[in-house]
Order: sequence, then C-alpha cells, then structure tokens
Amino acid sequence: MPINVSNRVEKINLEQDVNLAKCSTMKSGGTADLFCYPTDIQELRAALAFARERSIPVTVLGGMSNTLISDEGIEGLTIGTARLNKVKKRGNLLSVLAGTRLEKAIDGAIEEGLGGLEHFYGIPGTIGGALWGNAGAHDHQISETVLFADFLDLHGNLFRKQIIQSEFSYRMSPYKGRSDLILYEVHLALNPISDTHTLKTIALGYKQRRIEQQQFRHPSLGSIFKNPPGHKAGALLEGLGLKGTRIGGAQIAPHHANMIINVDGSATSTDIRNLIDMAKEKVFQKHGITLEEEITFVGRW
Ligand SMILES: Cc1cc2nc3c(=O)[nH]c(=O)nc-3n(C[C@H](O)[C@H](O)[C@H](O)COP(=O)(O)OP(=O)(O)OC[C@H]3O[C@@H](n4cnc5c(N)ncnc54)[C@H](O)[C@@H]3O)c2cc1C
Repeated sequence: MPINVSNRVEKINLEQDVNLAKCSTMKSGGTADLFCYPTDIQELRAALAFARERSIPVTVLGGMSNTLISDEGIEGLTIGTARLNKVKKRGNLLSVLAGTRLEKAIDGAIEEGLGGLEHFYGIPGTIGGALWGNAGAHDHQISETVLFADFLDLHGNLFRKQIIQSEFSYRMSPYKGRSDLILYEVHLALNPISDTHTLKTIALGYKQRRIEQQQFRHPSLGSIFKNPPGHKAGALLEGLGLKGTRIGGAQIAPHHANMIINVDGSATSTDIRNLIDMAKEKVFQKHGITLEEEITFVGRW
C-alpha cells in the first residue's frame, strides 16, 4: 500500500513490501520493506528525511545488476535511482544523473559528439552503480573518464568530490562499502569526435560480442568473482570442472565459469550464495586462493 510522505513541500510515494526479484538482473531475492523511486533531488531528500526521522536504514540501488538481494529482503528504506536519469553536455563534460543506464549515457555521449565510453557498451546497470563498483571492460575502467561526482549525505547535503585516480582500482572505489553516501551525479571528461556513426558502430560491436558470449541468455549478475592477481577466476573454476554445477535453480554457467545463472527462473538468492561459497571452498582447497566476490550482498543475510 503506498504511503504518501511529505517533507515541507515535496511529496514522495513509498511502497511497502516491494518485490525486488523482478527488478534484479538475477531475478532472485525478497522484498524491500519500503521502496521508492525519487524523480529529482527534492524527492530524494524527502525520502532521506523520512528514513532519518524514523531511524531506519537506507539502501540505494541502481540497475540491481551487481547485487545479490537476500531472500529475507531489505530492512528499512530502499531507494531506486532509475528515475534519476538525465544526460547533459557542457563542452567536453558530460553530466549524467546517477540512475541513468550506462547505455543511455553512452548513446547520449555519442549523439553529442563525445567518445571514450564505448568499450563499456553492453554493461547493464546505471552510471552510479558503475562508478560505485568501478565497472570496467576491455582494459578500461569507468573511473578513468570521471572528473568529479556529486553526492548527498544522509542529511540531504549535496557536495562535490574530485575523482582521485589513485583511490580507484580494479572493481574498487573509495565509496564501496559506505552506506552514508548517495551518488547523485557523475561528471565525465570525454573526447570530442566527429564521426559519431563509426563510434556507434564500435559501441554496438562491443555489445554484440557480449550477446555472442551468451551473457544475456539467462538472468545473472555478470562475473561473480574478481580475478585474483595473476589468475583468471573463470579459468580456476573451469579447471576444477565446476561449469554446469547446480544448487537448486542456480548453476555455474556452462558457457562461462565465472557466471552463475538463474537457469530456469527458480533460483533463490540462498541457492546462489551456496554455490558461490561452494566454488570458493573448492578453489581454496585446490589452489590456496581465496576468491573475492565482485558482486555485493544486500539485505538481511
Ligand atoms: C550480463 C552482465 C554483464 C556484466 N558485465 C560487466 C562487465 O563487463 N564489467 C563490469 O564491471 N560489470 C559487469 N556487470 C556487473 C554490473 O552490470 C556492473 O557492475 C554495473 O555497473 C552495476 O550497476 P548497477 O546500477 O546495476 O548497480 P547495483 O547492482 O544497483 O548496485 C551496485 C552497488 O552500488 C551501490 N549503488 C548503486 N547506485 C548507487 C548510488 N547512486 N549511490 C550509492 N550507491 C549506489 C549499491 O548500493 C550496490 O552496493 C555485468 C552484469 C551482467 C548482468
């Protein structure tokens, strides 16, 4: 049942017990106790004020393509960023609201005659989630293109942070693990280009490769584990014969050992986590390497 929350002049609808499995690219997990999709900064601030006044925790989610949501759901208020989506160009700077899908941001950049993001075409999720986890592909990571970003704290204060490249590394950002910051807008410094048609063709080529690798055939979160130094997580898992291993509806993808798929739509997040733990244990026993998850676990684990 929707609850209408008003913060002085702003109003926002909060929904109770919202099923997140249908929003997640893994198609698993429970419900958010309370959920909202703010459409602008005032609504975002109203949602934060609601949570603050009741001392309930806040979780922010973008495309839910890198998070395993607990079957027991998420406590407190979950804020979905999908309706905070806008792309603006100022010179060579592209300013993108955090909930904008990465593909939409790249399309916007190319249409505006700006290049530098095309290798990321086909990565699901939002620009906010991408910077949060420093998403990457083809030897590039998103942080390389970002000049500064705007954040809200839990009191609704907006502030700007310069991007310091040395604070980012492979699938790691200084914000990962922090629950007191909400990424609101990302400002990217891109390269002017004249041949937008060729750039779009290159971008589509990167996505086509993903389609050919069957990345979108089943619900998944992409790669589960980071590559440990000097190794490929997928090769370690494949070497142990784990491709195709199944727990409940969760399966180590027969075509990609570092992906877990929801093979027939019946996987629970518990099935997926059990498969993750089993794979980690086997790699540790054989190689003495502790695989680290690339994905994030959210909710009541
Ligand atoms: C088929 C497939 C292929 C993929 N390929 C790649 C790949 O090549 N490279 C790669 O790096 N990843 C890949 N991924 C993983 C994923 O798509 C990316 O990591 C993506 O950038 C996550 O964005 P998201 O919006 O879905 O984040 P979410 O899953 O919604 O969130 C991820 C984390 O960021 C936090 N977060 C998100 N938005 C905000 C915000 N505005 N403020 C504060 N915190 C926030 C969340 O709390 C969570 O902890 C793939 C996934 C799939 C399903």
